[in-house]
Amino acid sequence: MPEFNAPLRDMRFVLHDVFQAPSLWARLPALAETVDADTADAILEEAAKVTGNLIAPLNRSGDEEGAQWEGGNVRTPAGFREAYATYIEGGWVGLSGNPSYGGMGMPKMLAVAFEEMLYAAGSSFALYSALSSGACLAIDAHASEELKTTYLPPMYEGRWAGSMCLTEAHAGTDLGIIRTKAEPQADGSYKVTGSKIFITGGEQDLTENIIHLVLAKLPDAPAGPKGISLFLVPKVMVNADGSLGARNAVSCGSIEHKMGIKASATCVMNFDGATGYLIGEVNKGLAAMFTMMNYERLSIGIQGIGCAEASYQSAVGYARERIQSRAASGPVNHDKVADPIIVHADVRRMLLTMKALNEGGRAFACYVGQQLDLAKYAEDASERQNAEALVALLTPVSKAFFTDTGLESCVHGQQVFGGHGYIREWGQEQLVRDVRIAQIYEGTNGIQALDLLGRKVVANGGAALRLFAAEVRDFAHAHESPFGDRLVEALERLEAVSGWLLDQAKSDPNSVGAASVEYLHLFGYVAYAYMWSRMAAVAQSKQGEDEAFYGAKLATAEFFFARLLPRTLSLEASIRGGSQSLYGLAAEQF
Ligand SMILES: Cc1cc2nc3c(=O)[nH]c(=O)nc-3n(C[C@H](O)[C@H](O)[C@H](O)COP(=O)(O)OP(=O)(O)OC[C@H]3O[C@@H](n4cnc5c(N)ncnc54)[C@H](O)[C@@H]3O)c2cc1C
Repeated sequence: MPEFNAPLRDMRFVLHDVFQAPSLWARLPALAETVDADTADAILEEAAKVTGNLIAPLNRSGDEEGAQWEGGNVRTPAGFREAYATYIEGGWVGLSGNPSYGGMGMPKMLAVAFEEMLYAAGSSFALYSALSSGACLAIDAHASEELKTTYLPPMYEGRWAGSMCLTEAHAGTDLGIIRTKAEPQADGSYKVTGSKIFITGGEQDLTENIIHLVLAKLPDAPAGPKGISLFLVPKVMVNADGSLGARNAVSCGSIEHKMGIKASATCVMNFDGATGYLIGEVNKGLAAMFTMMNYERLSIGIQGIGCAEASYQSAVGYARERIQSRAASGPVNHDKVADPIIVHADVRRMLLTMKALNEGGRAFACYVGQQLDLAKYAEDASERQNAEALVALLTPVSKAFFTDTGLESCVHGQQVFGGHGYIREWGQEQLVRDVRIAQIYEGTNGIQALDLLGRKVVANGGAALRLFAAEVRDFAHAHESPFGDRLVEALERLEAVSGWLLDQAKSDPNSVGAASVEYLHLFGYVAYAYMWSRMAAVAQSKQGEDEAFYGAKLATAEFFFARLLPRTLSLEASIRGGSQSLYGLAAEQF
């Protein structure tokens, strides 16, 4: 497995130069005391060491050994326990957690960079703590003070982990039909009974306790999504003084054998009258769980970027070394029998596609992180509301576009290696296998697309989209970017298609479902065009400084606008193709 070096230079560029995070933090009282440019840089550098030196070396062996299930227990691969123990000493699980309960209170803009490094170093390892951070967020936002005080500190510390228990064998996308039951007890607790499948980190040997957040229904709950409640169910009961007591009636029935992320235990979890505590209000569990799911969706999106970055780094190294054939314009390597494959146009196309998508994605993740920080910390109510609307709009785009383009990038990275990309040695085939799940879990990318177009655009008559579009347009008019015209043209395409779809949705019930995936991609390319315009504007303003870095930014931006943004033309044509052709066949004709 090649080594992974965190792209620190690029992360600092995005954070400091493009989004000027330190000045934003300075004006938000909750962050002003916590973080500044130096602290952020120190955290990034430390994160680079932990992910590059501690976690990345376990990625290949973890994949080969996999997580093992033995009589109800899960054994993580060799080295994971020791690495996890060192990892949590750094406080990484609680990086952006609430300081009142032991979190570090760092902004999300910074945390997204850390998450990218973590997934790039090893998706399986990353998942063991990613679910904890999300669970903490849901507990912090919705649980009682007593639950917060008891559970958050050891979870932020990483001594206890979190899991997210939604899926059942018959209920994946459609959580309204779950069967897990929760019966109220005289002491205010509940007895939770049911079986959940596909639970990431439902059982493992890394932490003293696992705190399951479980969706279940009360006996008299209304049918459908409005009858779902959320429960905190510890693997080991917790005594009043915070010490661990008896085992709760929760067990791991088996783990799955999967295509990728083999070191991550994907568990069948059985709840047999397990003691649980209500989080939030009865029957409002889905809304509470969405706090966790929205966090996880951005995080899983970042899995796409992380894997793609790891793939890119190793593909570039290989393309510089591997010699095959001569450059079309004549030999470059006169003293060798052939030229390095990086001279060939098609290899450059693949590498530049990866680079443009990865760096566009990195900037967009930081931008969404900024909106999350504003939604949480801005003092002005309207600033908070705008940011919340943008977060809601952009979360499905981040999850699905980062992971769809993440897979595309990893496949390009594999292709750069030719046949050597298909065999184990170079790590490319593992990245393709590991990134693939990110398109499926946390709500499939098809469901993200429906969420974007149906709930976030059509349902509010395009209001949130108009907010985003106004910001993009303001930027294009106010800043000198060599790509301003092409940005506005792409934005107008998105607006025109959105208007057309709003109209179609009035008369055609299939129009949203038929267009949604292409629409999300169209949105994604426009969002990346905005990011590349912002990056290019900064790069242009730095003329004379670090020519190699800023010159590469402008050249990559040119590639994005010349070769990737035109994909929006075919996406528009496909969307306008409408829904009718999807219903030309009866089910038996397929
Ligand atoms: C490795 C792994 C880890 C996981 N980790 C967790 C976890 O920690 N916790 C947890 O609760 N779950 C977890 N999951 C479950 C995961 O979130 C679900 O698999 C996913 O949400 C899809 O549900 P499903 O598999 O039941 O597919 P289904 O819901 O049956 O969907 C099948 C197909 O139909 C499509 N579809 C369904 N409904 C619609 C619709 N209305 N419109 C259009 N298309 C539709 C879907 O997009 C998909 O393509 C994990 C799964 C895996 C494989």
